Amino acid sequence: MTKCITTIEELHEELKQAYLEHKTIGLVPTMGALHQGHASLIKASTKENDVTVVSVFVNPTQFGPNEDFDKYPRTLEADVKLASDNQATIVFAPKVDTLYPSKDPSYLEVFGNVTKVLCAKSRPIHFRGVCTVVSKLFNIVRPTRAYFGQKDAQQVLVIKRMVKDFFIPVEIRVMPIIREQDGLALSSRNRYLTNEQRAQALVLSQSLKHVAARFAQGERNVKVLRQEACEMIEKASMAKIDYVEILALDNLDPIETIENKALVALAVYFGNTRLIDNTILE
Ligand code: AMP
Repeated sequence: MTKCITTIEELHEELKQAYLEHKTIGLVPTMGALHQGHASLIKASTKENDVTVVSVFVNPTQFGPNEDFDKYPRTLEADVKLASDNQATIVFAPKVDTLYPSKDPSYLEVFGNVTKVLCAKSRPIHFRGVCTVVSKLFNIVRPTRAYFGQKDAQQVLVIKRMVKDFFIPVEIRVMPIIREQDGLALSSRNRYLTNEQRAQALVLSQSLKHVAARFAQGERNVKVLRQEACEMIEKASMAKIDYVEILALDNLDPIETIENKALVALAVYFGNTRLIDNTILE
């Protein structure tokens, strides 16, 4: 039975034996409203570790002033059930004051290209908030491994940079994107979509598939591939493109021709709902 814990003291009490016996601890950081994408991370962690901690925390510092922090879905009871169904040991669901004990919080910030492009352009404080909260969770839980989804490709690169630059002793494990049968990447934000928006949102995975197919046929010109993806997405009347970019996979540098691995990443609004998706070309 998965235990739901809200304080750091209780969490450490619960993990005491695991620390003493040098058991492996997997951490799955989430903002809750768990779905099968999160479940895949939990499954990977329970397979690879003695103990799995799933954190559920809607982190205020990664939301901009006009974003959906207040209305972000909070479904703790169902989250504990999903974590339990997937054999997680502990759900750690702290209060905001627990993770941010100071009135004027300190932040951890990663610099460089990975925090300047893609989502950072429309969400300038987002990755500072992500790094801040993830570093707190690393320090609190002290995991052997931490699990992240390729769905948030840029986040993975930023977290890897943070772990490298700050010598954080944790192994970062990255799991593939879980999709609905029709291709839509699972997201806690999909529940905001109206039926019509949901139907049109298929264009995201379709455009990524199209780019992957054109790449497989030999097209290497970034401008051409990008243009074709944009044209496909723009056919969906409710879609408003935030970005469609093809960048070098490892550092998100701009490229004109795909010579090594590349990331095709996009963010598109349907009404107020901003969806992201990506695929790797290699
Ligand atoms: P979130 O709760 O949205 O902050 O996501 C928590 C973790 O789950 C992040 O590492 C995400 O990348 C991952 N995740 C979210 N959606 C998916 C998905 N469809 N497939 C795989 N991982 C996902």
